[in-house]
Amino acid sequence: MSKPKDVYVNTAAKDWLPFYPGFQFKLLRVSAETGTWSVLVQADKGASFPCHTHLGAGEYFMVSGRMEVRGGAKNGGITANAGDYGYEPNGIVHDLTEFPLKTVFVFTNHGAVNFIDEAGKTVFILDWQAVLKLEADGLKAQKKALKKAA
Ligand code: ZN
Repeated sequence: MSKPKDVYVNTAAKDWLPFYPGFQFKLLRVSAETGTWSVLVQADKGASFPCHTHLGAGEYFMVSGRMEVRGGAKNGGITANAGDYGYEPNGIVHDLTEFPLKTVFVFTNHGAVNFIDEAGKTVFILDWQAVLKLEADGLKAQKKALKKAA
């Protein structure tokens, strides 16, 4: 049996990589065993996530900025500010999630997030493997850009 190992990520030493239009991320951890993945996400001011279903519970911690779920508190939804924590149960559906300010938050999902169109059809599955691929693609693009600049 392998010994337990600490996971430590110096996030300041990592570059932001493209996540989704309007969003950048730094990969913190993925687990192939459980499908859990953790990322640090940075949202541009005015960015938003389209409609999605959580196929695994999610948790977030707001480092800075603001996130408005279901139109925010003024519309009966959630307005999360710096220092706030949220838990999103398995199966929950989120419509447009908006970021009115430049925002940074930690997000862990215990499974996949299923992005859907208006008809409820799957557009994209964001799971631990997709997150790994996003990181690999981002690093590859970065390397290419550095080579070009040199
Ligand atoms: Zn969500």
